[in-house]
Amino acid sequence: MESQRRRPRVIAHVDMDAFYVSAERLDRPQWRQRPLIVGHDGPRSVVLSASYDLRALGVHSSQPVAQAKRLAPHAVVAEPRHARYQELSAGIMATLRQVTPLVEQVSVDEAYLDLSGALRGRGTPEELAARIREGIRSAVGLPASVGLAPNKFLAKMASGEAKPDGVFSIPPNRVREFLDPLPIAELFGVGEATARSLRLAGYSTAGQLAAAHPEDVAKVLGQGAMKLALLARGVDDRPVVTEREEKSLGAEHTFSTDVRDLATLERTLLWLAHRVAERARAADRLGEVVALKIRWEDFTTHSRQRRLDRPSDAAAELAAAASSLLHALPQPLPPVRLIGVRLDSLTPAGAGLQLSLDPTQDARRDAEETMDRINARFAGALSPASLLGSARPRRRIERGDESGTAAHETPGNSPGAQGRG
Ligand SMILES: [Mg+2]
Repeated sequence: MESQRRRPRVIAHVDMDAFYVSAERLDRPQWRQRPLIVGHDGPRSVVLSASYDLRALGVHSSQPVAQAKRLAPHAVVAEPRHARYQELSAGIMATLRQVTPLVEQVSVDEAYLDLSGALRGRGTPEELAARIREGIRSAVGLPASVGLAPNKFLAKMASGEAKPDGVFSIPPNRVREFLDPLPIAELFGVGEATARSLRLAGYSTAGQLAAAHPEDVAKVLGQGAMKLALLARGVDDRPVVTEREEKSLGAEHTFSTDVRDLATLERTLLWLAHRVAERARAADRLGEVVALKIRWEDFTTHSRQRRLDRPSDAAAELAAAASSLLHALPQPLPPVRLIGVRLDSLTPAGAGLQLSLDPTQDARRDAEETMDRINARFAGALSPASLLGSARPRRRIERGDESGTAAHETPGNSPGAQGRG
């Protein structure tokens, strides 16, 4: 039996509000209520960022500072501190990578996120956008705006609408409604000269451009016509490109006292497999190789791996493979200090396109996605039934670091319910 579904993508464009200005005001409370320009105060330098009150006076970035000062003689001009901005930027991007590994940083204060996978089980795109904004605010203390849409082009337009300090969403069924009245000059990539030619030819809105025959538009624009006609229709298939693709996903657990009991080790593996599978689903990745990592009390560390019959993101399959690797080790085992599961040889799960030949795998995956949903909703109230046999332990979970390895140090000796950091 074969089933195929195509879901629209959910792309977020996250953009900090007047980033340099916000950063200066964060560090210098005395400037919080003052009109502020960030830029070197020299004869040839330009404005890097201006506070919103000054924008109303015509001050804008890339304007000569001298001209900005004439428009706003009362403004404070702050010398840029790029090292500080980079530091804040790193904090912002790390926060975004906790939501999904599919983050494309486009500048110091801007990134695209493909939320299509991360959204499974985590509420609406708007709820996730709200959490992203809260996350950035609590990590670095700065306001961000988020645009949500089915592609990058529309998401960027949406974040423009969201500013300042807001969320704006263009769901698939409202793309036309958003684009049709839009003046063509506001379409991405349309410069003043192009806009003028298009207006002369009778196209003044994106809607008119979308309705036109591409050949007619080509008479005005030549080669660029097709791309622009597609944008006017809201079509943009560019993927979110991460700087480095994660090659593997892992989770590990250090016991507070060494363990030799196989049942405890298996329960821990199941728990870790769920963590890894959840992250794989969030990243829209399947993995083909499962690796077991085990460290004895004397700190010697061993790794064993096994190829699955087919790429998977199902915890049950990961746990079964890890468990069989555990049982294949010479028994009885020496006391175990740390145990870990990795999923390697990752491939894209299909960016919204699912092709399955196995209904039982589908059912299991659906069940685990439901659990993602419940876990997200109750922030760790539930965990796989087989993990609840022991007393509910205390623990803390961190999302994996950027190398793809998650190190979980927990206060208790047994793993348990999920909590989100
Ligand atoms: Mg910005």
